[in-house]
Amino acid sequence: MRGDVDTIKERLDITEVVSGYIKLEKAGTSFKARCPFHNEKSPSFFVSQTRQSFYCFGCGAKGDIFSFIEEMEGLDFRGALKLLAEKAGVEIEYHATSESKTEKDKIFFVLEEATKFFEKELTLNDSARQYIISRGINEETVKSWRIGYAPAEWRSLYNHLRNLGHEEGIIMKAGLARVSDGSANKEPYDVFRDRIIFPLADSNGSIIAFSGRILPRESGNSKGTEPKYLNSPETILFTKSEVLYGLDKAKDHIRKRDYAVLVEGQMDLVLSHQSGIRNTIASSGTAFTRAHLERLKRLSSRIILAFDGDLAGERAAQKSAILGISLDLEVKVSNLPEGLDPAEVIRQDSQAWNDILRGSLPSVEFFFNKIEEREKDQRKIGKRVEKEILPIIKLMNSAIEQSHFVSMLSKRTGIKEEMFWEDLKKVKRADTSSPPDSNLDSRDEITNRASHLTHREQIEERLALIKLWREELPKSSQEDLLLDKEEAELNNNLSRILSRDDLKKLVLELARAEASKDTKLIKKLTLKIRKVHSQIRDLEEKR
Ligand SMILES: [Zn+2]
Repeated sequence: MRGDVDTIKERLDITEVVSGYIKLEKAGTSFKARCPFHNEKSPSFFVSQTRQSFYCFGCGAKGDIFSFIEEMEGLDFRGALKLLAEKAGVEIEYHATSESKTEKDKIFFVLEEATKFFEKELTLNDSARQYIISRGINEETVKSWRIGYAPAEWRSLYNHLRNLGHEEGIIMKAGLARVSDGSANKEPYDVFRDRIIFPLADSNGSIIAFSGRILPRESGNSKGTEPKYLNSPETILFTKSEVLYGLDKAKDHIRKRDYAVLVEGQMDLVLSHQSGIRNTIASSGTAFTRAHLERLKRLSSRIILAFDGDLAGERAAQKSAILGISLDLEVKVSNLPEGLDPAEVIRQDSQAWNDILRGSLPSVEFFFNKIEEREKDQRKIGKRVEKEILPIIKLMNSAIEQSHFVSMLSKRTGIKEEMFWEDLKKVKRADTSSPPDSNLDSRDEITNRASHLTHREQIEERLALIKLWREELPKSSQEDLLLDKEEAELNNNLSRILSRDDLKKLVLELARAEASKDTKLIKKLTLKIRKVHSQIRDLEEKR
């Protein structure tokens, strides 16, 4: 595998790989862009062609093509290797026999077998196929999304996989089978039974989990207590709050069209793709989280929220809009007919779906319209604008955007702009905290990576890097000047740290000298300590 890595590195140029994701500008002999890994206005993300590496002066992200792809696509090293090998036209040699396969490989493998099993079962079950047809899903969509069916039996998948030789432990860890807590019978049984199966893939297209939709039964629903959708449990491959359903198929289209359409359900997603809107993605059985939107932001900074046309859908859209705007995304919301979800709209008329998306409004305008539709009393409208709309405007980073929406609100409510500006000063920013499981953001990882170094080592590492970058940047360009400034500050900090270390040593020596009552040495050390003290004070003042 080592050899493969080298071949890939030889064949692919880092600027080529990176510019598949973000727009690079020339800066001296290197390239720069706005960092895809943290929020920023002016570019501090640099790519060096000579060293085939990248570095962000803003958040400290750094690495080669492999770490870039890992970070960008949310893949592990093997995933990145697979993706880049394809790009470079390198056939990866796996010397791995089944003995040396990692647990992850085994889980990927068993999930692939399960997908094939579900696909086959769908061809054998009439009522499942009938249901899919009734929802307007065509043959081609079934194939490309690998939609399947889990039979209404307790152990059909489990027995099938055991017969193929898969270990019980791996089947359990893949989230395909479980044992019941209470009963004495510890024989595993299938998690998915009598459900339409939608496989979820990572950004490489490898299956990592499933979502199963219950089949409606005419003769009353015998399983009234079962959830409509059931997702795989979280596994080492599947984190609900991070995985975007459909991203493997949508990512290139999102990049090309420079916006993404966000829907809530599996049916909505596959039908939207079927109708030609291939830049659609869905969350996997949870509200959109900060982690989801941060991943999306690496592909495009514009999103359209197309949630169900009811109050629940509207609330969900409001939450996602607030999150999105706080991440500096341009958020539009589409207006679905009352009581309909995207799947139903598309089934009836796929052109209507196109029109609805085209008519999406900036989130502030959309939510204001909703208030206006429901409240007739001008004073109540004003109150709700203050409570629901101003906190969103407050989140916007651009003053131009803020004033655009303030003037729109003023025109439509008849309230003077100055009043809104006054209120805007007092209003609290909308709450953008995510559910607790979603704040594992990639930046934390990046800072953690650096934290095992001492402060001094970090400064020294950074100084070395600045030296390298300065060789490549155009002289007295803006970045060059910024680096000058940073270098001076770092040197200053470093001297302070070094002086403090000196001071510690001197104080220790002084204690020893005092113990041995060496008056001459005490005098000498006291003088030295005073000098170092004043040095540190000078350095502090320079800051
Ligand atoms: Zn950055």
